[in-house]
Amino acid sequence: MRGRLVVGNWKMNPTSVHGALELARGVAAIDGGDVEVGIAPPYLALPQVRIALGGAAVRIYAQDVHWEPKGAHTGQISAPMLAGLADGAIVGHSEVRRDQGDDDARVAAKATAALSHELRVIFCLGESLEERRGGKTDAVISRQVHRGIGVIRTGLVTPATLAIAYEPIWAIGTGEAATGRQAGDAITRIRYELAALGLDADAFTVMYGGSVTAANVLDFARADGVDGALVGGASLDAGQFSAIVAAFR
Ligand code: PEP
Repeated sequence: MRGRLVVGNWKMNPTSVHGALELARGVAAIDGGDVEVGIAPPYLALPQVRIALGGAAVRIYAQDVHWEPKGAHTGQISAPMLAGLADGAIVGHSEVRRDQGDDDARVAAKATAALSHELRVIFCLGESLEERRGGKTDAVISRQVHRGIGVIRTGLVTPATLAIAYEPIWAIGTGEAATGRQAGDAITRIRYELAALGLDADAFTVMYGGSVTAANVLDFARADGVDGALVGGASLDAGQFSAIVAAFR
């Protein structure tokens, strides 16, 4: 059976380390059972959040990672710098693609850097509203899988090292979640493209992300092929995040 995974992407929240620690303590109390629970706090809070989690079974993800291991890249954080602080990294998030101009090649380079330094990767992909309305969802997914994952060195991408988050851009932070059916259809396509790369597609964990809340999560938890959720806004409330985790148990 595929692993189920629910990860809270805190983005540029909370705005203080103190707030991050409070939230981390709330997440540490969640009993995920067989569902793997993760959080992606702001970089600045990583060291103290790691300590605050104590022995809790919560994985820590960086929200992004640079493709180079070191050097003249002002303001950036590299994979070696995350050693001991994070278990993995998110790459390809649409907000990073938007804010930093990441294209498929750069996302692939970031994923390669993380995987090469033994960080697990959550690989985000998804179409814009314009692309969906234009009937291009499958083509966008295909391009992002082939140019983003297909170019990563053979052997680095395995079901244990990389999970995928289908995140339609129009659903992120908008309150306009996809339906479970839309998520399931897109995820079927993602697996089809993974298989085309020669990967064991059915073994990969694929989550849905985009305005998931405690109120709508069951639609995704019940949808075929949806193995979990990448949660933004609703992960800032430990109680609501806990209910989202519980839906995938
Ligand atoms: C995200 O940031 O990955 C996300 C899905 O955000 P939200 O849940 O707020 O839409």
